[in-house]
Amino acid sequence: MRLSTHFRLHEMTRSQTATRMGLSNIPSDKEVDNLKALCKNVLEPVRVRYRVAFSPSSGYRSPALNDAIGGSSKSQHTKGEAVDFEVPHVSNLQVARWIESNLLFDQLILEHYVDTDPNSGWIHVSYTGTLSGNRRDVLRFDGVEYRHGIGDGETEAAFQALETMNFKMPGVTKRVTDRKGFVLRNFTRDFASLWSK
Ligand SMILES: [Zn+2]
Repeated sequence: MRLSTHFRLHEMTRSQTATRMGLSNIPSDKEVDNLKALCKNVLEPVRVRYRVAFSPSSGYRSPALNDAIGGSSKSQHTKGEAVDFEVPHVSNLQVARWIESNLLFDQLILEHYVDTDPNSGWIHVSYTGTLSGNRRDVLRFDGVEYRHGIGDGETEAAFQALETMNFKMPGVTKRVTDRKGFVLRNFTRDFASLWSK
């Protein structure tokens, strides 16, 4: 079943843990509607912006599955309102920054991201259709504590510069995707020094 142009229901419900433990992970009609809204308003715009195919690592979680993986009992994953994902060849910091600047969402969390490793971590983002509305709450979680905002200081400035260059200089984009970690770190250093002048 298709939830939106590029995303299918099975991508948003599959779980190795559920399979291994024999747990049911079938959303209700209401939860499927929530997943559709999440795809339409968050995942599709990201897919179109970066033109890279990706499949979420975690979408809907039944209460039993959520308990099994130690998720918060209030997790929006249990309502079909939240998804975890990464876009191949793009740092999670860049993607999170773009979502923050361009999309409506309830909560955006950059999880387990380490500034020195563009491949680290993942993005958690939620979208709600409830009357209380989408809060545009932006957080970063290092596995221990939550902090407001995604990036900080020079690293953030460097990635903003990189994002701008991706639009203007296709050659640079290619080099970044070829050897992402290495080149991105060099850009971080170069642009951090440019930025501070
Ligand atoms: Zn999540």
